Amino acid sequence: MSSLAILDENTLVVSISIISLLMAALTFCASRSATTLKLPLRIWGLAMAFIGLGFLLFIGSGQWPLLLTFVTANTLVVSGGALTHVAFLKLLHLPLRLGVVEVLAVFSLSGVLAEYFFDAGRRQAVVVLSAGVAVMLGWTCVLIAQSVHPGRSLAARLTVLVTGVMASGFALRALAALIGDSHLTLPRASSMPQLGALVLGMLYAVGASTCFLMLVHERQQHETQEATRRDDLSGVHTRASLFEQGRLLSAHSSRSPYAVLMADIDHFKSINDTYGHRGGDQVIQHLARLLQAAARRTDTVGRYGGEEFCVLLPACDAAGALNLARRLVRDVAKESVHLVDGRTIRYTLSVGYAVERRESDGQPEPFANVVARADQGLYHAKRMGRNQAQAVRIGDADERVADTRHCVEC
Ligand code: GH3
Ligand code: MG
Ligand code: MG
Repeated sequence: MSSLAILDENTLVVSISIISLLMAALTFCASRSATTLKLPLRIWGLAMAFIGLGFLLFIGSGQWPLLLTFVTANTLVVSGGALTHVAFLKLLHLPLRLGVVEVLAVFSLSGVLAEYFFDAGRRQAVVVLSAGVAVMLGWTCVLIAQSVHPGRSLAARLTVLVTGVMASGFALRALAALIGDSHLTLPRASSMPQLGALVLGMLYAVGASTCFLMLVHERQQHETQEATRRDDLSGVHTRASLFEQGRLLSAHSSRSPYAVLMADIDHFKSINDTYGHRGGDQVIQHLARLLQAAARRTDTVGRYGGEEFCVLLPACDAAGALNLARRLVRDVAKESVHLVDGRTIRYTLSVGYAVERRESDGQPEPFANVVARADQGLYHAKRMGRNQAQAVRIGDADERVADTRHCVEC
């Protein structure tokens, strides 16, 4: 701690103000060029601007009116802290409990207001403010630690570290003010607890902003990768992404086999001929939505090509695959697609399915083979008159038996 004595509290207060304002400018600039995540970036910019302005007012302590250097300055800093919480949660798509954030911010400031209006005492103001901010930062830290898999994200790990250290710092400051001399923790005091708090504050302005921008970068990278994996028209996985997922599934299927569904719209060419390609496109989008709604969270829906879709079903046996295939055939037959010109389209679906099986040497069947067998099931469903689900007809005896039992007449 003695090394902190070489630091000057005035320089630290000015530095925090300048650094926070620079971070605000940086994030506002980043929000202008960002195509997504504009809102969290702006909220972070506002938070840093509030903190920077708050510390700017601390500089005038003892010279400017107390309303500015004490009440307004602390209000700005506490609001800035609350906004950093909001920005993190918005960025990570976490549920935001704005009411609790507001209550915590008002609680943090209650001591300051009580001191200004009723002379309630500086000690109480510092204790309450530091405890309130510690809870806010601790809460942010816990929510981030729970939500993002810190093991997979360096930015999340660093954010948990920075917010955790800062929360502990403010908790210690509250304790120091509670059991020690509260004047030691005034913003311009040159005491060890206060110098330590100011150093932490400066590290937070830089560290938390850096973590925030790293998280933004990670999310944008993730969104870009996701966009390349998605089919433009239907929003489901592209064929390439589907095969990538399939290979992963195949590599990890040793304990429980997976199933593949191939679904193809019946007489789609005549839908195009009657309603035009825009009508046909709407039918493709309709089916994609229906498939995604029917799929489990662990399933993968992809567009194999044209009006043909593929669904990968991890840990799914023949009965499960047949159930889903039947449900899809039934659901599609009940639905109508409403075109903008008022016309409605009704269509039917044929589905083929196959379950991964072991090769004679115990090795898993190659993914492309399972897809090929599901595709044969689909052809069989077409031959049998469409609007139904079928497993592959040729092949071993079991499949032939299953095939006749599983034929769905819709
Ligand atoms: P079946 O019942 O045997 O499946 O017959 P079908 O008419 O559905 O199959 P066919 O393969 O003869 O026709 C598929 C048509 O799908 C031909 C192609 O022009 C059309 N198509 C492919 N991709 C798209 C697309 O993205 N949008 C639209 N509107 N049509 C598409
Ligand atoms: Mg078709
Ligand atoms: Mg087709």
